[in-house]
Amino acid sequence: MSDWEFETKAIHSGINPARHLGATSVPIYETSSFAYDTAQELADVFEGKMQGHVYSRISNPTVSAFEERMNSLENGTGAIATSSGMAAIATILFSLTSQGDEIVTSRSLFGGTFLLFSKIFEKYGIRFVFVDPLDPEELQSAFSDRTRAVFLETIGNPKLDVPDIGLVSDLAEKYDVPLVVDSTLTTPYLLKAKEFGVSLVLHSTTKYITGTGSTIGGVIVDLGNFDWSSCKSGSIRTTAGKVRGGLAFLAVARKEVLQNTGCCLSPFNAYLHSIGLETLALRMERHCSNALELAEFLSEHPGVPAVNYPGLRDNRCFATAEKQFGGRFGGLLTFRLGSREKCFRLIDSLKIAKNLANLGDAKTLIIHPASTIFCDCTDEEMNQAGVSEDLIRVSVGIEATNDIIRDFDQALKEVTR
Ligand SMILES: *Cc1c(COP(=O)(O)O)cnc(C)c1O
Repeated sequence: MSDWEFETKAIHSGINPARHLGATSVPIYETSSFAYDTAQELADVFEGKMQGHVYSRISNPTVSAFEERMNSLENGTGAIATSSGMAAIATILFSLTSQGDEIVTSRSLFGGTFLLFSKIFEKYGIRFVFVDPLDPEELQSAFSDRTRAVFLETIGNPKLDVPDIGLVSDLAEKYDVPLVVDSTLTTPYLLKAKEFGVSLVLHSTTKYITGTGSTIGGVIVDLGNFDWSSCKSGSIRTTAGKVRGGLAFLAVARKEVLQNTGCCLSPFNAYLHSIGLETLALRMERHCSNALELAEFLSEHPGVPAVNYPGLRDNRCFATAEKQFGGRFGGLLTFRLGSREKCFRLIDSLKIAKNLANLGDAKTLIIHPASTIFCDCTDEEMNQAGVSEDLIRVSVGIEATNDIIRDFDQALKEVTR
């Protein structure tokens, strides 16, 4: 099974039909608790002497099946599903940090992540050192003896900057801290995170993993690259002395954090994520090829002054993205139109692209970041994140390529009329 290729694992891992009356699609176990025949059995499960589920806030068979499938696709040592991508990030930070600790991270983060760091964790005494992850010198100078992790996104959103993950992982290793990577925009299909030295990879499964914009969820996978017995985070180092091998992070994240904060994934959502994974490879191919074609169309259009897509050869991140993502460049692109008015007119003129705050949907989605996702940010914060008043972000869907391009073509005619 471990020598299966990606597409096969995505369909066959995580479920053993013999354990589910022959069902080949994992059943949805909608139950809060699990009963045992004898008092001794339940006591043994609580003490970890016998495997079993107790209560769905802690674990659930439908959720475990999804965790197993994700772990298999990332070649990890174990996975933890969470109620959302934000919950995955919060779970990691609660597990790795205590008051006074520092995290080295990027200046161009997903809006929700930036707000979680700056508005919540900073309040409890965690410090974030924001750097340009494409600048090795600035990165290096951000480390101190209080650094507990490096946190990066594979493709910054919406700046679409692509850090060299191997290079950052070498730096993290030098300072003996784990490298945490949010691979939501790349999924395990584009980024083989384990091969680039990543310690923990996380995904908002709301996006490409479900693929239909139908639910919210998140997942964390430990890739087995980091030796938790040398971890500078107190509770993980203590746990590493008690549990087998490299499982200390997962033990702390599940038993101390997930179990007590209650940000568990619902079985129904786990089911949607598992069936989403079965078509992930096919969908990602199509998202990437459609995005490249739309980016090329827009960059040749006289009404569009600038297009940002890592797959365009003149893009500053082309070489890094090509090396890291196996010649594919994701489904997200941005472009500028010269003014907010033009952006609004374009959005109002599109017939296929939906105007909403999400990405990674089968449908093509469009948004004007400055007036929506970034409306509570200062000009300085927007600038850091690469957002301007005339910027449009598109999450390119898997519709017929020609229909997408024709939709943008007719809408651009309305704008320049
Ligand atoms: C959407 C997103 C998140 C947050 O995930 P939710 O499932 O919405 O909580 C985190 N990181 C990135 C890169 C995202 O796109």
